[in-house]
Amino acid sequence: MSKVALITGGSRGIGKEIALTLAKEGYDISINYIGEKDSSFDELQKEIEQNNVKCIFVSGDVSKFEDAEKFVKETIDKLGSLDVLVNNAGITRDMLLMRMKEEDFTSVIDVNLVGTFNVTKNAINYMMKARSGCIVSLASVVGIAGNAGQTNYSASKAGIIGFTKSLAKEVASRNIRVNAVAPGFIQTNMTAVLKDDVKDEIAKSIPLKRMGTPKDVANAVKFLVSDDSSYITGQVLHIDGGMLM
Ligand code: NAP
Repeated sequence: MSKVALITGGSRGIGKEIALTLAKEGYDISINYIGEKDSSFDELQKEIEQNNVKCIFVSGDVSKFEDAEKFVKETIDKLGSLDVLVNNAGITRDMLLMRMKEEDFTSVIDVNLVGTFNVTKNAINYMMKARSGCIVSLASVVGIAGNAGQTNYSASKAGIIGFTKSLAKEVASRNIRVNAVAPGFIQTNMTAVLKDDVKDEIAKSIPLKRMGTPKDVANAVKFLVSDDSSYITGQVLHIDGGMLM
């Protein structure tokens, strides 16, 4: 039977690339999404299924525990197991703290950090019984280094790093590995809002002189869920062109 990977927020951006990359590795894919389904979902499903693997879409808001419970169960019921969880769903509400509304802070924490808890909590029960599993969560360089205008986002991503390390210690004896990736500036809708001159300045400041691609992140996730990384847990892999060393 194929292994099964669940990717939250997997219908676009980095999550979509992770879904496509893991499908090429032979995983059956469960894609969680929150918005409305459109024609791009059919195209994505076809592209994934070209690898002779299954693809399902499971709806739900990661920030709601009952939704996470429902779509984790739906994944296991429909695809037969849960071997890999990628906590990818995330949002930004950038603003200097002086101007930040309470809702801008709590919504980012709720989706990015509480969402990671909600989905992982439901997945870990299954993985503990199976005595195997891999979890990779999307942190960020700003969760390590901080960034003006992102107190909410960097707090959520720093939280994910602490969560990852603590859980890795709790479940290592059950053969479950828990890691995080910390991307730098990756070309997706999340960074498309930046002006071109800002992006040029960012690229110049990166040792490898370019922004990253979703594929750069997906390849790191592929490694962290593969047997090639079987002795790696509780780590944060930087995918940032050398921004932080
Ligand atoms: P993106 O293009 O904005 O995609 C985010 C995805 O998360 C979308 O599929 C979105 O669904 C989903 N999502 C948002 N809120 C959700 C919720 N409450 N429940 C379920 N799904 C939800 O972002 P991205 O750039 O691919 O980022 C993916 C991850 O990488 C995020 O965790 C982000 O923080 C992290 N990251 C990104 C960068 C970067 O430079 N892009 C750098 C470091 C870390 P809808 O399509 O329905 O809105």
